[in-house]
Amino acid sequence: MNALKMWLCGLLLALGVMAGAPAFAGDATTASGSPIARDFPPGLVIPDAARPGPHFDADKATQAYLDLLSPEQRKLSDAYFEGGYWLLLWDFLIGVAVAVLLLVSGISVRMRDFARRLTRRRWLGVAIYVALWMGLGFVLQLPWSYYEGFVREHQYGLSTQDVGGWLRDSLVDLAVGLVIGPPVLATLYAAVRKFGARWWVAGSIGAFALGLVMQMLAPVYLAPLFNDYKPLPDGQVRTAVLSLARANRIPTEHVVWFNASKQTTRVSANVSGFLGTTQVSLNDNLVNKTSLPEIRAVLGHEMGHYVLNHGLRLSIYFGLVFAFALFCTHRGLDAALARWGGRLKLEGRDDPAALPLAIIVLSAVFFLLTPLNNSITRQAEAEADAFGLNAAREPNGFAMAAMRLSTYRKLHPGPLEEIIFYDHPSGYTRVHNSMIWLAENQDNPTANAPVAAPLAPLKFDAKLNASPRKP
Ligand SMILES: [Zn+2]
Repeated sequence: MNALKMWLCGLLLALGVMAGAPAFAGDATTASGSPIARDFPPGLVIPDAARPGPHFDADKATQAYLDLLSPEQRKLSDAYFEGGYWLLLWDFLIGVAVAVLLLVSGISVRMRDFARRLTRRRWLGVAIYVALWMGLGFVLQLPWSYYEGFVREHQYGLSTQDVGGWLRDSLVDLAVGLVIGPPVLATLYAAVRKFGARWWVAGSIGAFALGLVMQMLAPVYLAPLFNDYKPLPDGQVRTAVLSLARANRIPTEHVVWFNASKQTTRVSANVSGFLGTTQVSLNDNLVNKTSLPEIRAVLGHEMGHYVLNHGLRLSIYFGLVFAFALFCTHRGLDAALARWGGRLKLEGRDDPAALPLAIIVLSAVFFLLTPLNNSITRQAEAEADAFGLNAAREPNGFAMAAMRLSTYRKLHPGPLEEIIFYDHPSGYTRVHNSMIWLAENQDNPTANAPVAAPLAPLKFDAKLNASPRKP
């Protein structure tokens, strides 16, 4: 995560630009040397213990689902996810190291002076500094990003990209940052000059507004930079999604799918937009690697986010968290400037050359707030889970989808571990909740449905790309 991403992480909620992606462990093998199957095959097979009847037991049904994951698969999934705990720390430390390097070497001051020689307009000088800082930060962090985003993803069989594709996506990401970052930070520094010690109040209000705007624009303008989107062809999946949308008053006929399989093996979907831009998006892994009950279950969850207005509600919650973080940054930055500002040739809090110092404080605050931010998100996810079970009435589909996600998310964490590190309920929690729902709804028709066969695979032809919906 680069420094700008850190800065924006409170804002760009729901910026589901890169749909997640799951996994085949390329070179992971069992003790006997045969490759470990990372994914479950398409189609839904309901374990006998999860069939309704007088002796139905939610705990036993849950265990039957958990047992679908082989010990080798589980070990791999635990290792991948627990490694992610350390990545949080390393991301933070490497971001700090880059910022310290820019400050102590004098590079930050030189970039500021260079920008000043180019223009006498202060806002433009800040924008130029920010663009240089982002470009240099990208280059300095590239080896780490390459390990984290490419090498490690391949080690665990989660990425389907070659180096060229990964680098292209990284550069597009940087280009988007270069369009958004300089004007936003130039505006922030104008606020620092105008409001003095109250700049963090103005910054928080601006960040909240920017977060809302990004939520509206990202699905329409940013997501298509990374993937092709086109209408989902007529058929049982489209019919089922539209039926679920009508039943839950999602005002749209726009059901699209996108080629996430060019980046990842993970399954995902989302409902985005508002008013005329509302759109249901499924990734091609979900369409081609699961089953109809699972798709209905996943879409029920995604529609829950929409109906429960999580976009706006989480923006408010994270807006408050961000305001607190900016306040801490204000205090921390002033203290650090008083102590080291002279030696580092920094002129004050409105000096863009001090930006790396502010980023150190801000990223430290966000690092410490990780459990809070995860818990805010996880609570909304749990609500969407409950909504989705009631909307789709596919407890087995949801349990199976949760097991698919558990090939790369630790299946059964301890309670404290879930609070600190999980931004979604764990696989265990989701399967267990599905089985409790099933225990109370044994007459639900899908509980006795026959095995759901895999769907006939659909071919994603990028040439038939749909133009993204304009607002
Ligand atoms: Zn969700």
